[in-house]
Amino acid sequence: MAITKRQSAELAKQVFEYAPAPEAIDHIKIQPKYGLFIGGKMVPAHSKKDFPTINPATEKTLSEVAEADEVDVDRAVKAAGKAFESWARLSPSRRARYLFRISRLIQERSRELAVVETMDGGKPIKESRDVDIPLSAAHFFYYAGWADKLEWAFPNRRPRPLGVAGQVIPWNFPLLMLAWKIAPALAAGNTVVLKPAETTPLSAMVFAEICMQAELPPGVVNIVTGAGKTGSLVVTHPEVKKVAFTGSTEVGKLIQRSIAGTGKRLTLELGGKAANIVFEDAPLDQAVEGIVNGIYFNQGHVCCAGSRLLVQESIAEPLLEKLKRRLSTLRLGDPLDKNTDIGAINSRAQLEKIQGLVESGIEEGAELYQPECVLPERGFWFPPTLFTNVSQSYRIAREEIFGPVLSVLTFRTPNEAVEKANNTPYGLSAGVWTDKGSRILWMAQRMRAGVVWANTFNRFDPTSPFGGYKESGYGREGGVHGLLPYLELN
Ligand code: NDP
Repeated sequence: MAITKRQSAELAKQVFEYAPAPEAIDHIKIQPKYGLFIGGKMVPAHSKKDFPTINPATEKTLSEVAEADEVDVDRAVKAAGKAFESWARLSPSRRARYLFRISRLIQERSRELAVVETMDGGKPIKESRDVDIPLSAAHFFYYAGWADKLEWAFPNRRPRPLGVAGQVIPWNFPLLMLAWKIAPALAAGNTVVLKPAETTPLSAMVFAEICMQAELPPGVVNIVTGAGKTGSLVVTHPEVKKVAFTGSTEVGKLIQRSIAGTGKRLTLELGGKAANIVFEDAPLDQAVEGIVNGIYFNQGHVCCAGSRLLVQESIAEPLLEKLKRRLSTLRLGDPLDKNTDIGAINSRAQLEKIQGLVESGIEEGAELYQPECVLPERGFWFPPTLFTNVSQSYRIAREEIFGPVLSVLTFRTPNEAVEKANNTPYGLSAGVWTDKGSRILWMAQRMRAGVVWANTFNRFDPTSPFGGYKESGYGREGGVHGLLPYLELN
């Protein structure tokens, strides 16, 4: 039985009304202006240029941030190079101590960091508070543990750091991506120059304060803000020995081309178009929660989002009915409200990209479903959306939308599920929902995806490696594997 928009509105009325529960922001001190974090202190940019960073939920400017030019990036790389000489020689247990200290300070300042992350990026506070910040602290804690055990991690090899790492991160998980990059690099004895995304630099600025609070030796971590040009200066700087990038496949390829032949090490964590596959024997209510978490978590701004739902034909109807019912209970609005499930889209540019792809889905013949949902007047918003009647050739089934948009396809046999799931240029993640353990293993062996979740989705742990196949990039972050790209082994 199909569920109509009117029925969904009726259902929405039946759910509890929640009183507003906004997180307080009066204890947050965002500076009106930020410089660059170079050589252990905040310094003004040589470029003398700034750019605003806004709150995507209100479109209000939060702060002005420095835009690093060639001279600034060179200073940062030189500071990192100088610091490398002593950081690499420091006793590993002392290095570990700094990382433990950073982890502890992230925990202590977690409430502040969660609010800053939510205001700068638009994600719901319950996600920044319960996922982004605790996982960031956990990454530093975990890699602190490895700093003095590298010889045990790689027995009979002689692990040595590479030098200065140039790291460029995206806007979807700003602090968490910073932690994924900085923690293993430092544990392995490297120093870093990191460029946060243009739309979300603020948590990295708080992190710079944390480095000072932890008394991290000057130059071990340097943070240069700016746009794509600054990122390109970081990765192509001749004294940068290792490049780590997370972002779009397009820019990943550009970087790969720009550093080809230089001998720099490179790891790329790029886009995805993951299949979330539900078999007829799956526990449907649990699967519905997994589908919602897979695609609507962080407004779908997740590289490993379960953006293609593959559902076995025999259960498509009841599953979709449950899913539509669940969508009507999602709360979209003020990201600082603790009840909010869907926050703001990160930027106007990203909103326009989502809108364009959704229009293409309608034009190509897919059937759109959106629950009744009032969008705030200011800010960038997009309602939770699902498409049925999707063909594999449609753009919405092929391209990374990076928004709260799910494309639903069906299959009849496990082989067909495998064929359809792997029919993508990407290969970052996949989800399998079934009651049978043997089927989970059978599917996991056949998925061309770096991570396969079974009866869950979007579950992260610092001990577990993460990374892709094909156009989703190469190299692994997390776990012992995450140390490898930062070490010379001989
Ligand atoms: P980008 O790949 O452009 O951004 C990622 C990071 O790279 C940002 O810090 C960006 O700076 C920087 N950058 C941009 N150009 C260069 C360059 N030539 N050299 C070095 N660094 C560069 O992603 P977008 O923000 O433009 O998002 C576009 C699409 O990418 C999204 O719609 C989504 O599909 C996908 N994406 C995927 C992510 C993932 O985790 N897989 C993450 C983010 C986006 P700046 O922010 O200043 O532009």
